Amino acid sequence: MKIAIVGAGIVGVTTAYELAADGHAVTVFDRHNAAATQDSFATGGLLAPAAAIPWALPGPLAPTRWLGRQAPMRLGRQLTLSDLSWLRQWRRAAARAAHSPQPAGLALLQLARYSQARLLNLAQQLDLPFEHSTSTLLLLRSAHDAEAAAPLLKALRETGHTTFEVDADTARRIEPGLSPTLPLAGALHLPEGLAGNCRQFALLLRQAAQRLGADFQWGTAVERVCTTPTGVQIRGEASPRPFDAVVLCAGAQAAPLLRPLGLRLPLAALYGSTLSAPLREALHAPQSVVVDIASGSTIARLGQRVRIAGGAELGRTQEAHPHTLHTLYRVLGECFPGGVTHTSGEQVWRGARAMLPDGAPALGPSGAPGVWLNLGHGASGWALACGSARLLAGQLAQRPPELPTDAWAPQRWK
Ligand SMILES: Cc1cc2nc3c(=O)[nH]c(=O)nc-3n(C[C@H](O)[C@H](O)[C@H](O)COP(=O)(O)OP(=O)(O)OC[C@H]3O[C@@H](n4cnc5c(N)ncnc54)[C@H](O)[C@@H]3O)c2cc1C
Repeated sequence: MKIAIVGAGIVGVTTAYELAADGHAVTVFDRHNAAATQDSFATGGLLAPAAAIPWALPGPLAPTRWLGRQAPMRLGRQLTLSDLSWLRQWRRAAARAAHSPQPAGLALLQLARYSQARLLNLAQQLDLPFEHSTSTLLLLRSAHDAEAAAPLLKALRETGHTTFEVDADTARRIEPGLSPTLPLAGALHLPEGLAGNCRQFALLLRQAAQRLGADFQWGTAVERVCTTPTGVQIRGEASPRPFDAVVLCAGAQAAPLLRPLGLRLPLAALYGSTLSAPLREALHAPQSVVVDIASGSTIARLGQRVRIAGGAELGRTQEAHPHTLHTLYRVLGECFPGGVTHTSGEQVWRGARAMLPDGAPALGPSGAPGVWLNLGHGASGWALACGSARLLAGQLAQRPPELPTDAWAPQRWK
């Protein structure tokens, strides 16, 4: 088939690779001039288990006290009615998930596990040298954190993730750089948890997709997706370009393309920030990934750098809320004092998580003829990208699904 993909973030690149590997003639359109320039640029880096990423799901690790002076979620001044409706749906889902893992949560964990297996397989098969590290430690600073993590622990075990409950001394042996003065009630240790450099992987896989014939057309903005016949209208061109199928991987900017097709997904942009700083003293830095449940932050070792991610701001604002950046600096200093240098080479980045209220992506046929969706991966797009792309390619080829796909069907929002 002749297939157009809109978007060359991590989701569009992995989709391009899988479709090209299946023998399709793939063209990728992106308004930017390189892959992973938008919201896949400097993500937190966490791969599976995706639900261990704060904000990935309503419930488990997204704090229950989200509003208030010290809470990590911030509401912008320009909240729209759809932001408010999203917030209501998300809070309802969080209240339900506080006591038992919800189907979307379990499905997300399964998809992340499947995705990680596919990513490792691709990395090995294609010899992709991307920065990554293994092992994830979820810090339980207090009994309250342990209580908040209990449904997640149950879900991790139900989905076959090796997870150990460890005491503070063991946690410090796993991550020797953790500050000795950090109050710690214990931790959850996932020895198979993984972190990696999303942008680097996207650039390497883009090259692999190109070798299979995928054509990346940079600087092309898609104005409209057409259904009669199927195709895309590129800004500045006289008529739509025809394709057999169009796959939308447009992340947080998908709404203007979805609306004219009659698709009204409740997608919200939840903004967050990352701070990447060069190592100062490796012994005082994380060896792999540490998730701080108390602040909703993740700290990952990416080669010679440490990256901390956090914050969740709903509603359009130009800049990160000062509270978000202050929290990132504070938590990094509290957990790994002396691990990084802030004097040179530091990078601050802000991006959007395109989220649906249940935290799961919209993946599969859209309902509009010839149009497929692979978007709305929220806080775990990097963790889910390789698996989502593989499943979508399977659906297009009408192969029997390797995982049940109901939890991600775009039609669940009709
Ligand atoms: C602070 C922060 C930390 C995060 N940490 C993690 C983490 O640790 N682990 C994890 O798994 N995920 C994490 N995420 C989430 C992850 O970054 C996203 O889910 C993922 O990058 C989304 O990828 P994407 O390809 O869907 O979107 P994008 O990377 O935004 O790609 C979409 C592309 O579509 C293009 N596009 C859109 N509309 C058009 C159009 N009309 N015409 C042409 N091109 C178009 C854009 O230019 C863009 O390049 C984090 C996000 C944030 C903000």
